[in-house]
Amino acid sequence: MTLHQNFIAGSWTDGAEAAENINPSNTGDVVGNYARASREQADQAIAAAKADFPAWSRSGIQQRHDILKKVSDEIVARKDELGKLLAREEGKTLPEAVGEVLRAAQIFDFFSGETLRLCGEKLPSTRPGIDVELTREPVGVIGIITPWNFPIAIPAWKIAPALAYGNTVVFKPADLVPGSAWALADIIIRAGVPEGVFNLVMGRGSVVGDAMLNDSRIDAITFTGSVGTGKKVAVACVEHMRKFQLEMGGKNPLVILDDADLAVAVDVAVNGAFFSTGQRCTASSRLIVTEGIHDKFVAAVTEKLKAVVVGDALKAGTQIGPVVDQSQLDQDTSYIDIGQKEGAKLAFGGELLSRETPGFYLQPALFTETSADMRINREEIFGPVASVMRVKDYDSALAAANDTIFGLSAGICTTSLKHASHFKRNSEAGMVMVNLPTAGVDYHVPFGGRKASSFGPREQGRYAAEFFTIVKTAYTLP
Ligand code: NAD
Repeated sequence: MTLHQNFIAGSWTDGAEAAENINPSNTGDVVGNYARASREQADQAIAAAKADFPAWSRSGIQQRHDILKKVSDEIVARKDELGKLLAREEGKTLPEAVGEVLRAAQIFDFFSGETLRLCGEKLPSTRPGIDVELTREPVGVIGIITPWNFPIAIPAWKIAPALAYGNTVVFKPADLVPGSAWALADIIIRAGVPEGVFNLVMGRGSVVGDAMLNDSRIDAITFTGSVGTGKKVAVACVEHMRKFQLEMGGKNPLVILDDADLAVAVDVAVNGAFFSTGQRCTASSRLIVTEGIHDKFVAAVTEKLKAVVVGDALKAGTQIGPVVDQSQLDQDTSYIDIGQKEGAKLAFGGELLSRETPGFYLQPALFTETSADMRINREEIFGPVASVMRVKDYDSALAAANDTIFGLSAGICTTSLKHASHFKRNSEAGMVMVNLPTAGVDYHVPFGGRKASSFGPREQGRYAAEFFTIVKTAYTLP
């Protein structure tokens, strides 16, 4: 089987070792063989990115625009093939995977446009006769570290702005699902990015990621992943006095009020909690439901879950694909045990399922009669597991929603303008959804959370400039 190599200092390069990428819908299917870089190779990639930064940082905006646009166009042209690869390696369903691929294309298209909209400000000085100019400059070498659950969209929303604003890149995708990241890297390289400007270093977090964290030639790190790894990134970045941006876990609440449209609430809850196998940082893992609608809501969600098709990600009609790997499946099932031991009622699912091929199939699990202090309501599970918490009224629902260390996304289903408005203002989350799933966002507006979910400037849209550029203030006496 061909080895998919790393791209370091302008050359495709074998790794220190290689890893098999396994299809979670069929563990007998090897998606591909992927190189794992050594520390020395990470070092070479960083050196190349550093050496080529001065020239790239002064490159023309038309050149940068054209490269990013070309990347977008190729992704669109190959959306079905890339979607199939993504579904095969990560396990989200084919329509979800094709959607994610198109999202990556939209992001590259957006940032190709942003290269042409770079602007500064010219102001009068408080001292007469002096001019003040504010400009945005590229930061330098950006280290990009990404998780496995959005293997093309998250790399896209970090790589596209990094290159658009004139930075060079050392990109380390998740070790578990390198296929889509490799395909994206190949497209970027063939689109004409100069040698050294973009480097792909697939491999282990403890080797390649650690080498990146501890290298002072990296000027900024943008990270998406778990809180535990995020803290390590933060500590290393403070040590090196460099910029960093962290997007981490969630325990996102979805509040259902008595006055909600029941059909809307059920659709929103099932989509937000279980689609993409619940493996979204924005998944609605806590369903907080007021007394008057509670029993009707639980009955309707359970009924809907009975009809949901769990199966091979590539098979037509599958609505929920497998869990990504054995270790995530073990985590999910261990929380299903913990929930029951804590006294929650497993109202539906939670069983391992067998299908035509060996894979990590788990029936979506719905807990009811849960309380705020249970671990299943406090810790991120990151699988198709959600818990329902019964509350008295809107005020207790809001308090329960905010009673978490996380603050990524929060939702409310209601027909009351008063409660929707109050929730939007008082929810301690970075993103708030009214009558919409907590997962599912646009690409032209800021993305990010609060509390333990996020640290640093927002990602995506025009707000990405806050992280990927540095403002310079210049004074001139003409
Ligand atoms: P993870 O923290 O295990 O890994 C993330 C990345 O960090 C991987 O590339 C990994 O190889 C690397 N890494 C691991 N150890 C490292 C180290 N010591 N030094 C440097 N890099 C290291 O996370 P994961 O399991 O891949 O992803 C799941 C997590 O990501 C969940 O917590 C989820 O909520 C979160 N996530 C957050 C967002 C968001 O935008 N907030 C989006 C998607 C996923």
